[in-house]
Amino acid sequence: MSDEARKLGRLIADSDSVVVLTGAGISVPSGIPDFRTPGTGIWEKVNPMEVAHIDSFRRDPALFWSFYRERLNALSDIAPNRAHEVLVEMERDGLIRAVITQNIDTLHERAGQQEVIEVHGSIRTSSCSACGAKVLLQDLEDRFDEQGVASCPLCLSALRPDVVLFGEMLPPDEMLHATQLAAAADLLVCVGSSLEVHPVAGLPEITLAAGGKVGIVTQGPTPYDEVAEVVCSGDVVAELEAALAAAET
Ligand SMILES: [Zn+2]
Repeated sequence: MSDEARKLGRLIADSDSVVVLTGAGISVPSGIPDFRTPGTGIWEKVNPMEVAHIDSFRRDPALFWSFYRERLNALSDIAPNRAHEVLVEMERDGLIRAVITQNIDTLHERAGQQEVIEVHGSIRTSSCSACGAKVLLQDLEDRFDEQGVASCPLCLSALRPDVVLFGEMLPPDEMLHATQLAAAADLLVCVGSSLEVHPVAGLPEITLAAGGKVGIVTQGPTPYDEVAEVVCSGDVVAELEAALAAAET
């Protein structure tokens, strides 16, 4: 067990309100490529700023769905991994209060996490761009027409996935909840996030400004490494399992 993981575990055990913030790195052991890793990312083939942009959906829903249909199918085929399970155990044992996630894959919920705030939306549903009707992911495949566009069962307008697309604001209710949790946390543990994409990347700043501490479990540098109480840079599963073991001794 690394000294850093042991220190993180002790910090978690000694803090009253621990909030966890997760990014793509926690889903990598499930088989989701982290799109920031050169040569392996799902964004290598397309320009995400163009295809996964709200303007692309409005302009050419068939092109948009040609990319997103494949992405949703890939994400619905994967399962939670041990890192998700460790966070569930921490919640069950009263060690952590909530998980704020940038991930849209619903793996925290599927692992059994009770308190999850999805600040980038999720693949769970798609919504009609005209009437707002919602379609569950498991029913979505039946909604594609010959042009490859998913359409609303009520009004036949184009459906869109309920994820935050490029060019869109984050959902205000979820961001408010996340901000309140970050401000009230005496420890914010950031797992598998490079903490580069705002406004989520500003959450550790909120915790620090309110007098709380920040812990990091991420491979690769983050802008908060200098001010973090502890930085665990090893494998995400190994680091979290070690932290859980240390927190419970
Ligand atoms: Zn509709």
